[in-house]
Amino acid sequence: MIIYRADWILPIAGDPMADGWVAIEHGRIAGVGVGGRPDAVDLGDVVILPALVNAHTHLELSHLRGAVPPADRFLDWIGGVMAARRRFPNAEDPTILQAASAAVEEARASGTGLVGDVSNTLVTVPLLREASLPARVFYELLGFDVDDPVGLVREARARVDRIDDAHGNVRISLAPHAPYSVSRALFTAIRDDLDAHHGDVSSVHVGESVDEVEFIARGTGGWRDLLTGLGVWTDTWQAPGVSPAKYLTDLGFLDSRVLAVHGVQCDGEDLSRLHTLGTTVVSCPRSSRYVGVGDPPLEAFYAMGVKVAFGTDSLAGVADVNMFKELAAARRIAPRVSARHLLESATLCGARGLGFGEQFGSIEQGKQAALIAVRLPGPVSDVEEYLLSGIEPVAVTWLDREDPKSQIQNPESR
Ligand SMILES: [Zn+2]
Repeated sequence: MIIYRADWILPIAGDPMADGWVAIEHGRIAGVGVGGRPDAVDLGDVVILPALVNAHTHLELSHLRGAVPPADRFLDWIGGVMAARRRFPNAEDPTILQAASAAVEEARASGTGLVGDVSNTLVTVPLLREASLPARVFYELLGFDVDDPVGLVREARARVDRIDDAHGNVRISLAPHAPYSVSRALFTAIRDDLDAHHGDVSSVHVGESVDEVEFIARGTGGWRDLLTGLGVWTDTWQAPGVSPAKYLTDLGFLDSRVLAVHGVQCDGEDLSRLHTLGTTVVSCPRSSRYVGVGDPPLEAFYAMGVKVAFGTDSLAGVADVNMFKELAAARRIAPRVSARHLLESATLCGARGLGFGEQFGSIEQGKQAALIAVRLPGPVSDVEEYLLSGIEPVAVTWLDREDPKSQIQNPESR
């Protein structure tokens, strides 16, 4: 057993502890408390907290970092992504794999210990396992005009079953892309698969752009044009005539086992619905701005009691996968939300949403010891608020390292 003492411990499950300690044994948290422990390794001026949770990213798009410029309109950005992806037709292109691996390392170096990774190809599964980065990988399906949605899901499930390890730290489940790219029947087939796999959770992009709102309300606009251009528009599809979140609610797709990603366009009724369903909204503030959909109504999410998690989204729409930067963006957008709530979103809420709430997201006895120490500049009056200031990787040390104390004292030596 090893015990670390720190100026601050942030259990997330309870109040911040000044002059606290945490004990680790066999990779698990054996205890946490306050007060002197002569047997502890003193890490000094740091705050120990659970590793952050990036609840939404697309690691397989990491090679597109900087390749698609920021847009004023989401359709322009997504068009750029589609064009850029076409330049790499082979899913196992070394460029793709190397960039994804580098992003995994970057995530860990900046204090992320669990990711929700959306993948159309599943190439990230072995990379995450090799890097020992726990993850829920969402095998994302698209199909607006699919002949056999049940068959499509059956094939996807068979592929998942060949590589999934339900007890491991990298677990795979199925997820639909978005209301404008997935047919009703495909949504239903994916939901049926989710109902048949009790440990799974799913995810869907919803309420991201105003174009999506128009398309689901009236069947018109940029999405209709894009689907027509792609040759997948079908006259059998009728516009639901409601908001995207209400559409997915009416379909029976959303509940507490589904992450609703973005929700930028959600109104009060949508948020009330998501609150009632127990659905976690995953907000990606930096990406939302980059891709031209505007800022998420973060303060309304919290005011309505909606569960909120955070994600960086893909490197095609954000500069890095540092969740501390995402938290800093959230703080700018939502100055009235407490630091504690924002930090809980970036840890425990994300872990729960990804189906890992029993293992990660807080410092509690028995949980996996995925813990980080963030170096403080000296005494800070509000340690929670300090963690929203945009912490750089150089200030982050993992406690599972061989000698975290020397790492904290010599941060440039890494
Ligand atoms: Zn996404």
